[in-house]
Amino acid sequence: MSDLEDLYQEIILDHNRRPRNFGPLPEATHHAEGHNPLCGDHIKVLLRLEDDVVREVKFEGEGCAISKASASLMTTHLKGKKLGAVREAFRAINHLLTSQEDEIPELETLGDVAALQGVRRYPVRVKCASLAWHAADAALDGVVETTTE
Ligand code: ZN
Repeated sequence: MSDLEDLYQEIILDHNRRPRNFGPLPEATHHAEGHNPLCGDHIKVLLRLEDDVVREVKFEGEGCAISKASASLMTTHLKGKKLGAVREAFRAINHLLTSQEDEIPELETLGDVAALQGVRRYPVRVKCASLAWHAADAALDGVVETTTE
């Protein structure tokens, strides 16, 4: 394993052990629940949007290490972002998780979220990693329940 892969592994383990922004958000303006029946992950994403800016974003639920780490990374990444930048991040993570190319141009914009790129080598885990992001995307569209299948 390269040093970079070690670092990515470390980031994911850390977010799994100490999930950021985990818990309820009573003042949420948008929320959605995502289910991944393949793995049994169940993640609820809550956002407080104000003037087209994500002021708060939290998550709740149960899931495997990848789904929790991804949700945690997502909350740290989206907080404080404008809606346009949030949509951009959704596109970038989708590309990161599904692209078979070696070069991912969006990588630089994703910060620690880039740690999830190793997941693409394990197709069965891609849905774990994308679950929270799909839920957040759906929440902003006014959908409250999603299933990744
Ligand atoms: Zn999972």
